[in-house]
Amino acid sequence: MATLLEVKGVTGGYSANHAVIKDVSFHIREREIVALIGLNGAGKSTTIKHILGLLEPREGEISIAGKTFHTDPDSYRHAYGYIPESPIYYEELTLWEHLELAAMSHGLEKRVFEERAFPLLQEFRMEEAKDRFPQQFSKGMRQKLMIMMALLVRPQLYIVDEPILGLDPLGIRTLLTWLERCKEQGAGILMSTHILATAEKYCDRFIILHKGRIKAQGTLDELRRSTGMPDRSLDDI
Ligand code: ATP
Repeated sequence: MATLLEVKGVTGGYSANHAVIKDVSFHIREREIVALIGLNGAGKSTTIKHILGLLEPREGEISIAGKTFHTDPDSYRHAYGYIPESPIYYEELTLWEHLELAAMSHGLEKRVFEERAFPLLQEFRMEEAKDRFPQQFSKGMRQKLMIMMALLVRPQLYIVDEPILGLDPLGIRTLLTWLERCKEQGAGILMSTHILATAEKYCDRFIILHKGRIKAQGTLDELRRSTGMPDRSLDDI
């Protein structure tokens, strides 16, 4: 399987004299869902901000499908879909206009846009909210808007920050079913989460961050073997 995301020896943070993440290396291949897990403050969101190009590595390099943010920011940005932990939206645009904006910025034809947008609205039960403004939405509805915007453009790589918090059980199931579908179609998914039971069920590999460093990574079996505890769950590791 081809490698979609390569994070190599990345050290970085928010100021020149303090590194939040240190020597972080991992990759995401096609057709896999990888969980990024760790305690509050471990550095998951900071790692994601480096991948998105919002923070620049002080050391190391990040590439998506062989491109770096530095050399080709536009292609780099278009290669991933990002589902943020806190919804980001425009007050003056309706839900439908947000979807149109996402489609336009990725050059989707109107026909393709509509073929994809209507089933998403239906599956996430957001049809009635189509012409409303996200300001009037609940947190979960805003989260669903972010999810639909990312799923609409079908990127090769999804970066998903804490996707489950704020969603109702049906929303969680719909999202995870979609991500599994994207994986079957060849996408790679990096998902930061605190919900270990969900990670164990849906993710192929796990990256455990502790105080900004990778403590362990691998499949559940590999993690169990490396800790010498065959019956362990992610909770114990
Ligand atoms: P959580 O599970 O709580 O979301 P996390 O693993 O995503 O945590 P980060 O948000 O990456 O952790 O935070 C890692 C460290 O970076 C923390 O010590 C935090 O205080 C610091 N940090 C996060 N955002 C900023 C910022 N904008 N400026 C300075 N320091 C920050």
